[in-house]
Amino acid sequence: MHACSVTASSGKCDVTAVIVGHCAHEVPAVVEAEAARLATGKVSGPLTVVTESGSYVVLKPSEDAWLVGGEAWRLLGSQIIAQTRALGHASVLVAIDGNKADVTALVEGVVLGDYQFTLCRSGKAAKRTRVTVRVPGQKKTVATGLATAESQNIAREFGDLPGNMLNPSTFIQRARKVLTGCGLRISVVQGIPALRTAGFPGLIAVGQAGSAPPALLEISYKPKKVKKGGKKLALVGKGITFDTGGISLKPGANMGEMKVDMGGAAAVLGAIRMIANEKPSVPVTAYIALAENMPSSKAQRPGDIYKARNGKWIHVDNTDAEGRLVLSDVLTYACEQGATHMVDAATLTGACLVALGTSIAGVMGRAGDQEWVEQVRSSGQSRGEEFWQLPLYGEYTKLLDYPHADLNNIGGRFGGTITAGLFLSEFVTDKVQWAHCDIAGPAMRFDGWRYYGKGSTAFAARSFAALAKQL
Ligand SMILES: [Zn+2]
Repeated sequence: MHACSVTASSGKCDVTAVIVGHCAHEVPAVVEAEAARLATGKVSGPLTVVTESGSYVVLKPSEDAWLVGGEAWRLLGSQIIAQTRALGHASVLVAIDGNKADVTALVEGVVLGDYQFTLCRSGKAAKRTRVTVRVPGQKKTVATGLATAESQNIAREFGDLPGNMLNPSTFIQRARKVLTGCGLRISVVQGIPALRTAGFPGLIAVGQAGSAPPALLEISYKPKKVKKGGKKLALVGKGITFDTGGISLKPGANMGEMKVDMGGAAAVLGAIRMIANEKPSVPVTAYIALAENMPSSKAQRPGDIYKARNGKWIHVDNTDAEGRLVLSDVLTYACEQGATHMVDAATLTGACLVALGTSIAGVMGRAGDQEWVEQVRSSGQSRGEEFWQLPLYGEYTKLLDYPHADLNNIGGRFGGTITAGLFLSEFVTDKVQWAHCDIAGPAMRFDGWRYYGKGSTAFAARSFAALAKQL
């Protein structure tokens, strides 16, 4: 996790971070000269200046057009903590003069940038120096940014935990622990008999050979004062704690990355924790579908046909297209529970990586969901996460035809993200506004990206929290 604390109180610091154009106090002339060089683009930052009165790090917000929704400020935050550590200091003063949203994003960047998955490191690597970051006078913004980033880092840790340490049972245990004191209601349906009674055949089909029984984890937030209009938001997350592909086994190379096939579940968990803190005025329920997709004599077979919660028969052509099977019944269930608006996050298709790369998530909805899809996109942009719309093109529905069942679970070689979305749309009632987010690209990084190191990002958590606020 992160090993820094951010505080709004003032105090003595080892180094001062100076942000060009946003510095709240006087600095020595030599620092000002360096800031001017950086401002005009003569040099690129961050710069380190050591003067008689102390050490300074001089930075400039990036003007890259794609860094929207506070991303330039998150980047600055991560550079500040990285520079402080590189210089061997234990405290840094950020004397900043900026608007609230920028300062909040900067605080988020400090905490997100300082995240490292150290649970499985011992000795020196496990012990990190604790760094204090002071942002004097910014009490409320510091608290907001800190709460958001802490929730996101908690969610990232779920993503980074390997399959032997995180299965459906340990996911639930851990979720209960990290949500303690948040004022959320948690309920669990776990195990094959319980899921059969409750009506989740997709979770059973996928998770019946898992090392721990599949489960549905439901986490509810109820506002003290509910906004008029009867809106109710459902967040649905795909939580395959490890995906071998099942009997349609994946190739061995890089299969270990499939520990992050619960990236949607992690994002939804992070979002509901943020929501508990931000307290929007609409009720929100997170539905997390948990299963481990393993091959064994108990596993479902390619060619199996089963009946989903909503009565549609599904032919399982490929057991590696399991995400849509666990999600489908949960989407139906969330509709039954009275959701008016619904958004799901899933590391669903490799095709989405081919279409949009590693930094952009796909978003899609039916014709009647267009306004809601646009709201998901704008919420994402407001928190620095990019969602790009793909069409749920009706004609492609026939790619899911199968003569012996209502639906095939795969749609062939091309347009895989779209056919997966079309499959899911079969389980959502028309009355509910729905958007499906395929986060297969940005859910994890193989190397560094912006303020993320290698590993899980919990991408979509911030966007979904923003969505609840804007509803
Ligand atoms: Zn799969």
